[in-house]
Parts: sequence; C-alpha cells; structure tokens
Amino acid sequence: MIDNDLDDVERVVAYGMNPQAHRYSPLDKLNRDTVKHLTPAWAFSFGGEKQRGQESFTLVHNGVIYVTGSYSRMWAVDARTGKRLWQYEHRLPEGIMPCCDVVNRGAALYDDLVIFGTLDAQLVALDRETGRVRWRDRIADFRAGYSYTAAPMIANDLLITGNSGGEFGAIGEIQARNPRTGEMVWRRPVIEGHMGTLPDGSETMTGTLNATWEGEAWKTGGGAPWLGGTYDPELNLIYFGTGNPAPWNAHSRPGDNLYSSSTLALDADTGEIVWHYQTTPNDHWDYDGVNELVLFDMEKGGETIKAAAKADRNGFFYVLNRETGELLLAEKFVNHVTWAEGIDLETGRPIETGARPGNPAATDGDRGESVTVAPAFLGGKNWNHMSYSQRTGLFYIPSNEWEMEIWNEPVTYRRGAAFLGAGFTIKPIYDDKIGVLRAMDPKTGEIQWEVPNRTPLWSSILTTAGGLVFYGTPEGYLKAVDDETGEELWKFQTGSGVVGQPVTWTMDGEQYVAVVSGWGGAVPLWGGEVAPLVRDISQGGMLWVFNFPKKRPSVGDYSGVDGSRAHLSTARRFSFGKTL
Ligand code: CA
Repeated sequence: MIDNDLDDVERVVAYGMNPQAHRYSPLDKLNRDTVKHLTPAWAFSFGGEKQRGQESFTLVHNGVIYVTGSYSRMWAVDARTGKRLWQYEHRLPEGIMPCCDVVNRGAALYDDLVIFGTLDAQLVALDRETGRVRWRDRIADFRAGYSYTAAPMIANDLLITGNSGGEFGAIGEIQARNPRTGEMVWRRPVIEGHMGTLPDGSETMTGTLNATWEGEAWKTGGGAPWLGGTYDPELNLIYFGTGNPAPWNAHSRPGDNLYSSSTLALDADTGEIVWHYQTTPNDHWDYDGVNELVLFDMEKGGETIKAAAKADRNGFFYVLNRETGELLLAEKFVNHVTWAEGIDLETGRPIETGARPGNPAATDGDRGESVTVAPAFLGGKNWNHMSYSQRTGLFYIPSNEWEMEIWNEPVTYRRGAAFLGAGFTIKPIYDDKIGVLRAMDPKTGEIQWEVPNRTPLWSSILTTAGGLVFYGTPEGYLKAVDDETGEELWKFQTGSGVVGQPVTWTMDGEQYVAVVSGWGGAVPLWGGEVAPLVRDISQGGMLWVFNFPKKRPSVGDYSGVDGSRAHLSTARRFSFGKTL
C-alpha cells in the first residue's frame, strides 16, 4: 500500500504521498476552475499551552487522520468529523537539545501500528486503534545532543530513521528496524571511520579511515541525516541526505569530510553505501545536504532516465542518475548564490569563489575575518519539501533569497554542547521578498515562473492533476496557484503561520485537502535580521481540513471565496455545474 500510495487516492499512507516523494496527487475534481469553492470542513486544535512550529505531514487511513504536533505529540482524528479518537503526549525529559524548534514532521503507518520519533531521540510505536504504546526504542542518547524530528519511513519492510544533532557534533546515522518489534536490523553511520552493523551482526567501516578527514576530527564530525529519506522499490535503494560536518568552523577539519553534506544511496537490505554525491565538500556555511532526493523518470533525447532531483541548501538544483549517482544537471534555483560560480559537470564539484570565513588562528583576536555570502545558512531551500508534478513534469520549489555575514571562532568539543565555532547574522537581500515559489524544469534548469512572498517560505508543496500547486505562508495562508502560470486561484487564512505539509485524498466521493497551521521552526529562532519581520505572527496549533461544501450554492449565486465570480467564464460555469 505504501509503495503504491500515489494511485491509492483514498489513503495517504506514505510520507511525501509516495516513497519517491512526489507530493503529487492524480485527483482532479479540485482543479483550476473549482478550487475557489474549497471551504473548511472542520478544524482541530492541538490544544495545550505548548504550541510553536507545526510541520507535520498528515496520514489518512480508513477514515482516520494521524497527525503529530510540536513537543512530540500525536493524535488520531476522525477524518469525517474532526472528532479526537486518541491523543499521545510523550513525556520529554529535562535537557533535550533540538537545534531548531520543538517540531515533528510526521509518523509512519505499518500494520496496526503508527510509529513516530521524539525530541529525546526515541521511537514510539502506538496501537493505531487505541494509541497505546506497543514498543519503544532509543535512536541515540539525547544527552549527547541527539534528537529526532523527521517522519520515519517504511521501505523494504523496514522502519528507516536518521537522526538530528549535527550542531552538537553528534554523528549522523541511518538505522533500519523491524517495524513490528523495534529490533535493529542494520545501522550505518554516515561519517567515514565509524563502524556500522550489517543484518548478520558483523561490522563494517563507513568509507576509509582518514581518507577525507584529518586526525581525530571524524570522531565528532556531525553529518546528521535529519530529514528522512526516499525509496526506490525497484532498485531497492534508500536515498538519504546528510547534514553539515561539525563544527561549522571548517579550518579545524581540512578535507572533503565525507559523507557530510551529501546524498547517499544505500542498499535497503544491508544499509551499505552504494553511491554518494557530495553537494558541498568541506562545507563552511552550514549547507546541510539533507534535502529530499525526489525520484522521477525523465524523458530526454528519446530515452527514459531513472533520474532524481534535489534542491540543496547551497542554492543549486541537482539532477542525478539515481542508479549510479552520475550528475546530469546542476543549476542555481535562487538568484543569489555567491559561494560558488557553478558546478563542474565533469567532476561534480563546485567551482568556489573563495567566499570562506577567515581562520581565527590567523588573527590576533578570537574572531576570524567575516564574509558575506549567499544563500544564508538556512538555505536556498530548507527542510520544506518541493513537489514533482507528473502533470507538468516540473518541480515546484519553496525557495528563499537571503544572505549572511559569517565568521569563525576557535571551538573545542564538549559532549552535549553546541559545536559551531562560528558566528553569523542572516540578512534579507530584497526589500519586498524573501520567499519565492518557483517552477523549475529539470531538463533545462530553467525557471518557468515564480511567485514572491514577503516572509520566508517554510511549508512543503503539494501538486495535483487538477493543475494546482498548494503551499502555505508564514502570513497564515494556505494558497493554491495555477501550475502553469503561478496565478493565485484560492487562499484561506488559517490564523497562524503555515509551515506544514499539505496533502489531499478522496472520501465519500469528495476531494479533501489537509494542512497543519502553527508558526515556528528555525526562522524565528535563527533568523537574525529577518526575525523582526515575523515577530508578530501569532502562534497556533491546528489541523485544517477542507472540501467543497456539502450543500453547494448554485453557481449563479455563488460569489466565491474572494468575491470575484467574474473569474468564472460561462463555459467554466457550465462544466463546474456538470462535473460537480
Ligand atoms: Ca546544520
């Protein structure tokens, strides 16, 4: 069911709408003509005093919605009525260390279980019917700076997780478990020199000791794969992005620092690394390479390429061959990328401009020479996922235009303490926008259209066969725009910033859309000069569910959400009346 989720329009059981993370639905009842009639069906409050960022993906199965919230909470809600069926609140210990807000991005369904990870780096498997704990296991020790915010993934009948903690020198690791019991099947650290475990219990080293790290630096080398992965069931490969190397001060760790800031393809049976592609060698700017690798088939020159695409924090959009890791295309998807001129397609390496912060050891004081560089460390795109439309063949990227001043300072590793050796301030580039929704052609790297947003875009994207692109804004809107032009067709004010992940499905013959609303995430915490722009946004914690009103107004009377029925042509009105 999970492997074929995209065709199963009555369920949403795979994070990203399918294991390839297309975030696309073949549903078209809701389309460019009809979307203006989309109306809230119900809304559900997460309640409590604790709100902050709500970034969860909504799962839908047999009329029940499973949604997670900030502070490691989860709910089962009746998808027809919004009635709460059960609630789970994880008891969090003192001293958890999430770097970038107390968010959770979603759960995984397996048999009669619903499984999610917590801020103290645990996995909790709950009974789908009752919400009672069936098993629990520890991903890593939160006291060392580990946490967990991603949605676990089911692939190859295994429960796959990464971890968070790259800002604390915590070593990134991908783990595979038996989803029924939580028992570990394999584990693969992503920094060279560390030992992983195969399913038969034997151990093998990741990479070659000291090949791309000098001395002992690999021991606290970071690389946390904190966003989760994608899966190709045919190739049986799991794809994961890895985070920044630690510390941020790259002067203390010469070398490429594999496999930090990379995309890895892992054998789903053993966890061994089949290929890797490093987007930012010897990263100096916190350009985590965690962003999702979206798997798609690309027709080019009369052949079908098993391709995959990634919009990286570093500002480049990459297209790779997903069988081999071969680089096929790399183009900027934001206007301002100043750390590199481009990517050499022969070697796959960036052509750097030299915009690296100075070495503090080369100065009299403690602070090295600063540089101003774009993108800012929060990235040309951050965690919030792009979408691949099977209808248009385009990628829809929630991008941000910003830069930063960054400098280095000496730093020593202390377990469970921030391990950066850097200071920084994020700055806007334009007066009127930071966020830009962009439609990117993966064959040419050309931007087809773009829609600016005043504040940073921090929600994931959903596309549909109805020609729609859904996304949220910190200003509180869930919006739908035309997938060919970017023209705004519909919007709804949810009452708090939307930094969640819209989904769609059908139920009782109606098409539904759901998204969580609740402002937070990394921007208000780390945003520097951008933070004041978003200071007045109200917090929240709501699940919003939309469909067409049950008792539909006649088209002639209907003035539409924005009061502009003039948009409906006679022909469209006729087809609207007929199709509904
Ligand atoms: Ca990072």
